[in-house]
Amino acid sequence: MYNQVAAKTVEALRQIVGAENVLVGTEEMEPYTHDEVVGLRADPEVVVRVTSAAQVSEVLKLAQRERVPVTPRGAGDGLSGGAVPVQGGIVMTLEKMNRILEIDKQNLMVTVEPGVITGDIHRAVEAEGLFYPPDPASLDSCFIGGNIAEDAGGPRAVKYGVTRDYVCGLEAVLPSGEIITCGGKLVKNVTGYNLIQLLVGSEGTLAVVTRIILRLLPLPKLQVDLLVPYDDFQAAADTVSDIIFHRIVPTTIEFMEQDSILAVERLLEKDLPYDDAAAHLLIQLDGNRQDGIDADLDVVGELCLEHGARDVLVAPDRRTRDRLWEGRRAIVDALNHASPINHLEDVVVPRAEIPALLKGVKAIAGRQGVRIVCFGHAGDGNVHVTVLKDQVRDERWEGLVPAVSEELYRLSLSLGGMITGEHGVGATRRQYLPLALDEAQIAVMRRIKAAFDPNHILNPGKIFP
Ligand SMILES: Cc1cc2nc3c(=O)[nH]c(=O)nc-3n(C[C@H](O)[C@H](O)[C@H](O)COP(=O)(O)OP(=O)(O)OC[C@H]3O[C@@H](n4cnc5c(N)ncnc54)[C@H](O)[C@@H]3O)c2cc1C
Repeated sequence: MYNQVAAKTVEALRQIVGAENVLVGTEEMEPYTHDEVVGLRADPEVVVRVTSAAQVSEVLKLAQRERVPVTPRGAGDGLSGGAVPVQGGIVMTLEKMNRILEIDKQNLMVTVEPGVITGDIHRAVEAEGLFYPPDPASLDSCFIGGNIAEDAGGPRAVKYGVTRDYVCGLEAVLPSGEIITCGGKLVKNVTGYNLIQLLVGSEGTLAVVTRIILRLLPLPKLQVDLLVPYDDFQAAADTVSDIIFHRIVPTTIEFMEQDSILAVERLLEKDLPYDDAAAHLLIQLDGNRQDGIDADLDVVGELCLEHGARDVLVAPDRRTRDRLWEGRRAIVDALNHASPINHLEDVVVPRAEIPALLKGVKAIAGRQGVRIVCFGHAGDGNVHVTVLKDQVRDERWEGLVPAVSEELYRLSLSLGGMITGEHGVGATRRQYLPLALDEAQIAVMRRIKAAFDPNHILNPGKIFP
């Protein structure tokens, strides 16, 4: 279906982006063979580093003519294989388009290129007293373009929503090479179909995003974080429902099971408080008035203790707060350290179904005879379920991963959930799409893909089974 990248195509790419921005047959290509999915690799035939929308357009036009696939790539932090060139061809990396173009304090908007590290946007706007809430745990390395393509979430989704809630404008290059500009610095806009929201979360399969306008909020003046250990996860989950029932919406409500706490301790080589607890909740409250935040803190603290929390540790300042969060941010790395071969899932259920999900996960672990560790976003129902290979033999592991994934997806769907909350379908979950979506939905999605990309040159082998 696709052609190989010919020598003349490589030469044409050099003409478009400059010879120094074309990698072919060198060791420097290795980082572009994978993202953060353990065990998934594919070699690109050529890597191009683009620096403008015009270059993206020319590369896509060339790829159309030559019928070679193009895989857009951000930082390669993805957890569903989205940036892996499973059909070979060209990897187009956006790493050099990394400028924050404007912080508009009158309109509360920031304009950025796709290769800006998300944490750099946070820091730049916070220096101006402004706030970009989406905060994937990978924020110090992933790019905003990758966040747009995956509709990345993060702990603050409970109160502030996810990436798509902040995107007001996009410049994007269609697979035909046409450059489109959608939206702008607009809080309202109902002019035609909402292509922005179609492109957000489209996993690099519909267009290459080259410029982004994000809505900002005033930076909340006050923040307080609580670490709350429990002997029983059900009690922790009941606390979450009760806090929200009391009309308090924390900024974050994260949970970590004991196995993940112990894995973090081993990685960081330091003790975490209450490491013998069955689960920790990490709750953050923010606001602008000290009396308001104190009142919420009192209610939340009391509710935690009423539900059997062993303690409520409060971190009022940045240093203590960073210490509490260091553990949560290190979990993915810690589990990779504990079992370098593992499989990370990302199911999402209605918040109130988390205890049922966790109970079901433990039953799956028992049935399949494998260690499964859970952590994630208790406040929004998104649970990261990690299956650890440990000492499981290679031959058994091969069959075990799909068996566990399928049981897990069926469990999540039976609870009103979905198969992925923030990591995307990508290459790793595509065969399971029919479990989650009915035929008519998949058929409409395929027609949308064909309308954007009739020759299927952009990021093939993703999303669709
Ligand atoms: C330790 C760790 C923690 C994580 N925590 C979270 C979390 O809390 N929340 C969360 O949502 N995710 C999380 N992730 C997953 C990952 O960070 C996100 O999916 C992130 O959005 C990926 O961005 P990236 O720049 O690395 O994209 P990549 O992995 O490079 O690419 C991801 C997808 O985006 C496409 N793409 C990239 N740039 C563009 C572009 N400019 N135009 C069109 N398509 C493009 C690619 O083709 C690919 O399909 C975590 C990952 C790690 C390793």
